[in-house]
This record gives sequence, C-alpha cells and structure tokens, in this order.
Amino acid sequence: MESLLKSQCFINGSWKDAENKASFAVTNPANRDEILRVADASDKEAREAVDAAAAAFPAWKNTLPKDRAKILREWHRLILKHAEELASILTSEQGKPLAEARGEIASGAAMVEWSAEEARRYYGQTIPPFKSGTRVMTTREPVGVVAAITPWNFPHSMITRKVAPALAAGCTVVLKPAEDTPLSALALAALAEEAGFPKGIFNVVPTSKPASVGNVLTDDDRVRKLSFTGSTEVGRMLMARCAPTLKRVSLELGGNAPFIVFDDADIEAAISGVMASKFRNAGQTCICANRIYVQKGIYARFAEALQKAIVGLKVGNGQETGVTTGPLINKEGLDKVNALLKDATSKGGRVACGGKQSALGGTFYEPTLILDAKPEMRLSKEEIFGPIAALYPFETEAEVIAMANASEYGLAAYFWTKDLGRAFRVTEALEYGMVAVNESLLASEAVPFGGVKHSGFGREGGKQSLDDYTAIKYTLFGGI
Ligand code: ADP
Repeated sequence: MESLLKSQCFINGSWKDAENKASFAVTNPANRDEILRVADASDKEAREAVDAAAAAFPAWKNTLPKDRAKILREWHRLILKHAEELASILTSEQGKPLAEARGEIASGAAMVEWSAEEARRYYGQTIPPFKSGTRVMTTREPVGVVAAITPWNFPHSMITRKVAPALAAGCTVVLKPAEDTPLSALALAALAEEAGFPKGIFNVVPTSKPASVGNVLTDDDRVRKLSFTGSTEVGRMLMARCAPTLKRVSLELGGNAPFIVFDDADIEAAISGVMASKFRNAGQTCICANRIYVQKGIYARFAEALQKAIVGLKVGNGQETGVTTGPLINKEGLDKVNALLKDATSKGGRVACGGKQSALGGTFYEPTLILDAKPEMRLSKEEIFGPIAALYPFETEAEVIAMANASEYGLAAYFWTKDLGRAFRVTEALEYGMVAVNESLLASEAVPFGGVKHSGFGREGGKQSLDDYTAIKYTLFGGI
C-alpha cells in the first residue's frame, strides 16, 4: 500500500478535506520541522462523522461477534506488518525514542488482538427465576456511537485501547486525536481501510480546534458514550457537557504516582524500576513516578545510585540510536517543567543533576534529580510531565502511606519491599486504581487500567474492557 502518512479526515470510509480546505501543521518536536499539513476539521466534519457512525451502527451491531473479531484481527495483522513505519511516524510527531515507539505499536496492536478475542467470549447470564413459569437472562448490548478523545503522549495505543473494545462490542466510533499528534491516528485509519472495515464504523476527525469538534461530540444525543484520556481539567468539563444527554463517560485523567522504596527493598531493582517508570517518554506519562519516597536508612545510597543512572541517559532526537530521552512535546510542556523546577528550588529542593534546558535547545530538557523535595512544592501536587525525579525522605510506613495518599489523584502507585506482610498492608492502604509491588511497568492489554478519585473512572483492557461500551439488557420470559 501507499504511505501511511495521511493528511485528510477519514469519514464514512472516505478521505476528505476539511471545509474550505482548512489545515494545520504537524511538527516534529525534535527539530520543529513541519512534517505535514493535516485537515483541520470543524463542527461540520464532526457532524458528518457522527452521521456516518450513527448510520453504520445498526448493521455493525448485528454482525456476528466472530465476524467483528475477524476484521479486528486483520487490523492487528496490518498494524504489526507496518509496525516500523507506524513507529517512525509516531517518533516524528511525538518525539519519543524509536525503541519506545516500537513498544507502543506492539502494545497498541496487542489491545486490538485482545479485543477481538474478548468479542467472542462476551457472555451474558441466566438467572434463577424469581417467579414460576418464567426464565430470566441478561445479555450485553453495544451502547451506540462512541466518541473517543485521545492525548498526544501515546498517540497510537491510547487510540486502540478505546477503538478496539468499542468496535468489538458492536459500537461505532468517532475519534478526535490530539492536535499535536494526528498522524498516528490517520495511519491507523489507513490500515482500518485496508483491513476492510465497513464504512462509517471508524471515523477520524483531526482538528486544531478541540472545543468545536468536542462540543459536537458531547452535545449530539446519538453519541451514547464518551471515552476520554487527558487532563483532569478537560475531563471534568467534558463530563459536565455530557450530562444533558446522559452519556456514559469513561475518564482516564491525570495521575501523581507515588513510588515508595522501603529500607528492605532490593535497591538495584528499585533503581531500574524508577528509571523505567520515571523517564519513559521523557516523563510524559500519566503513570510516571511523580513522587519518589525513599526510607531514611537507604536515602543517601539510593540518591547516589539514582544520580549515576540519570546522568547515563542520552537526550536527543528519538530517531537516533542510543537516545533514551526525546524532547518534550511542546513549548507549554517545557515552560511547565521550568516553572516546577524554579518553584522546587525556591522551597529548598537541591538539584543533584540536570535542572535546566538541554544544550540541544528546543524543548529538550536535561534529566534531573531533585533531592529533599517537600509536600509544599508544586511538583508534589501536580503531574510533572517531564524528566524530573524528585526524592522525598520518609521514616515510617504509616507516614509514607499518608503522604502517598495526600493527592487528589489516584491512578498508579508503586512500592518496593521484601516484607510480605507490608506488601499486603501497603497495597490495601493505597488509594489508587493500580498498584505495582516490586515492579514498575504495569500496563498491559490483559489488565484493567484506570484510576480512582480525580484520576477518573472506567477501565481499559482486561476482562472488563468491553463493559464500558455495553449496557446490560435483562429479559424476563413468561408463559413457560
Ligand atoms: P494534555 O494536557 O494531555 O494536552 P488535554 O486534556 O488538554 O491534555 O488534551 C487531551 C485531549 O483533549 C486532546 O485530544 C485535546 O485536543 C482534547 N481537548 C482539549 N480541550 C478540549 C475541549 N474543550 N473539548 C474537547 N476536547 C478537548
């Protein structure tokens, strides 16, 4: 097939310009070069996409699960076949190192395969009758048109984790990708077209005006479900906008992950864990270690070893071999990291390494270690979304649990210990949707990903992945 670099909206199975051929530039964050101009969808294209998804829904709903699974498996096969090109597009628009982009494509594809498998085993229930002469059963029905709004930090896998289970369940989808990274979304649409998706079941409307497209999606009564990944602030606003039409909503919002290392931990393993969790995607993930709590007995040793590991990172263009840390996504990302750093040092944080923009310029930032961080610092309360590791000393288990839970967020938490009793106690005490004990990479298609508190609700992946896209129908049969 031709290149997967697409520049138009994908609506009702066709590639279309936006009204008046409006377009916006997609740039490479590593060098600010323009990669391509992409159609800038307005409310008109958004409505067309909802029309197409609504028209396609009845037939798609009535396909056999095994036929939906077959189409999804073909999409999965094509994603893997084109993994190298997809990874290269991803790195060029998002900045992450190619090795990480390849990993993201593999995990995105895995979610498609998982959803295809789940489609065929999505069982209802029979319930013992409560009245003689009756039989009782439940089935699960697709809710209808789904709107998916996705962020720029995982431009591929955040899409497949919504679109694949929605389609597997029999829903149709309108996707609005993030304005910084629409190319991965359009490449997925190109492969969906090649996989033979029926027209209208998957539509993509890139835009530089998220609110105007977003408002169409939230306000249209035919859209029965919104699945959103992004900031808590925007998620809250979208949920309010979905209230008048009583849409179902799944929100995967911000995180502020505690990463706790107890005295009895395997320190080397914990250092590798913190490096993987903190510095993946230059610190721009919602499950990145945001507050690293280290028990007093090992604090100095841990800080020294962590600093050594951090100075070994290589900042640069993600396309170059050996680069571990790409640029931040944009100027706003850089400004935020600069502001957090300034705030931390003004409140007594000590910069052990990094602490400034990289000599490479642009939005490159030096991997940074801050010692003696404190709860009153902004980086303790907010998502850092950059390559800054902040270390906090603590003394007791009770103290660190209180500090870890002192956040409005509740997405992922990590801790390291060899004490089995403590492993259970701390797991149960942490107010988080996901907890990793002596592990640092917890996302997978096989597990329910999602948060509590201001990190949102809804679960993506695992046995539950189709639940958010279906409604339970209870049927009572009488006269038997
Ligand atoms: P981030 O901080 O990750 O950029 P955002 O919440 O701003 O988080 O963005 C996540 C997604 O939400 C992106 O696709 C973005 O375009 C979209 N978005 C932002 N504002 C709105 C809005 N008012 N209506 C609909 N979508 C929006």
